[in-house]
Amino acid sequence: MNKENQTLTMETLASLCKRRGFIFQTSEIYGGINGFWDYGPLGTELKRNIRGSWWHSVVQTRDDVVGLDSSIIMHSKTWEASGHIDGFSDPMVDCKSCKKRYRGDQLCEEQGKALQNEAGTYSLPEGIKCPACGSKDLTEPKAFNLMFKTFVGPVENDSTVAYLRPETAQGIFAQFQNVCSVARQKVPFGIAQIGKAFRNEINPRNYTFRSREFEQMELEFFIKPGSDEEWHNSWVEERLKWYESIGLPGSSLHKYVYPKDELAHYASACVDIMYDFPFGTQELEGIAARGDFDLSRHQECSGKSMAYFDQESNEKFIPHVIEPSAGVDRIALALLCNAYTEEWVAKGESSEIIPAEPGKKPPEGYEARTVMKFAPAIAPIKVAVFPLVKNKPQLLEKARGVFDKLKVCWPSFWDQTGAIGRRYRRQDEIGTPFAVTVDFDTLEDDTVTLRERDSMKQERVRIDELIGKLHGALI
Ligand code: ATP
Repeated sequence: MNKENQTLTMETLASLCKRRGFIFQTSEIYGGINGFWDYGPLGTELKRNIRGSWWHSVVQTRDDVVGLDSSIIMHSKTWEASGHIDGFSDPMVDCKSCKKRYRGDQLCEEQGKALQNEAGTYSLPEGIKCPACGSKDLTEPKAFNLMFKTFVGPVENDSTVAYLRPETAQGIFAQFQNVCSVARQKVPFGIAQIGKAFRNEINPRNYTFRSREFEQMELEFFIKPGSDEEWHNSWVEERLKWYESIGLPGSSLHKYVYPKDELAHYASACVDIMYDFPFGTQELEGIAARGDFDLSRHQECSGKSMAYFDQESNEKFIPHVIEPSAGVDRIALALLCNAYTEEWVAKGESSEIIPAEPGKKPPEGYEARTVMKFAPAIAPIKVAVFPLVKNKPQLLEKARGVFDKLKVCWPSFWDQTGAIGRRYRRQDEIGTPFAVTVDFDTLEDDTVTLRERDSMKQERVRIDELIGKLHGALI
């Protein structure tokens, strides 16, 4: 978390996100539905920037990764092969008194205990209480499969059952041979995919952090058996660098290295990249060395070979895989939390900025401002254009000319109403790094005022130098 906003609550953030158009509750007019969210105009741009930056780093700037866009509904045998039909479940616990439902492992953890799991059977330790009503009359944990079920075609029976994918990864494994035969790649190489995934989470919570519909950015990087450790370490470092490149400070990012006894039986290593959210340090991405588990299982269940022939060494093998798997929505939430800043600004010329003290009013001569300090590359809108007044056609036309030039380069915002100070504040609150004001001097000398969001510093810039200057600053 941004060290200056340690007291940020999800209520405060959600209120800004709704007010400014980052995130809305889905189907709000019907009372909403738990675990589903809609992204407004600014949230849409923010997510586009996250996806774009990930694609740029993982696919575009490498010559050993290609993309894929596979379907959300796959043959249901896929999920038998992957183990999701048998094993993709969470332990569900119900309170018999107030009927609230919980995820057993989380319930125990919050009360300083661990859910017991002996030979695949879960049980609650002594003394666990319902957080809502305090009752100890809870059901024993029952495995609840998280996949959403549906039917393909008009007939609803066992043979038409299908599942909304709970991860994008299996689409990649199932297309491994097709991609291999067209991509002109040799192992080691990767296949990347961005897309929606669905999990019927027992207890969606912490705003968008745990949702039932979310978006993943996944890479399956296929390697020669034996090179697992080296490639795993290299991807962990790559991915950490990327998080810093989008503006999350290194001091708020952590690695959780799975001890051997927490690894899935087929995995040789797993590291989670964690972020200090206001509600605790939580996972943004998991990077697992999964061996040949997935391809082997698909080979077994489909009867189709998943082997790869390595021409250099004249060997045939099933590649091992390193899987960095990240969530767009969680990254968006981390960026929103990190960007949120409250400050006090001196009124008048000096514009001195001091950090706000939580829960207090600004001292005499200062006013509060909320500013979303997104890294420029990730900010939804890059630049706003303001004509100083709206009732002078010549000025409006000049400002429109500037706006028309900028909007082809970056998402830009036009605002002609209200006092100029208020227009700046509105852009601060949505994290726009720059604002350009066109005034009467512009008509004389073709210069505009360029104002920077964080320092609030203003400078006079020639219109013909504006795009070059912004290019340099918006990387
Ligand atoms: P968790 O332990 O938090 O449930 P996970 O370990 O099951 O997550 P993975 O299966 O490794 O998650 O999924 C990869 C990534 O997909 C996660 O790191 C996260 O960013 C994202 N993700 C998974 N489940 C959700 C969810 N319910 N809501 C939003 N994002 C999710």
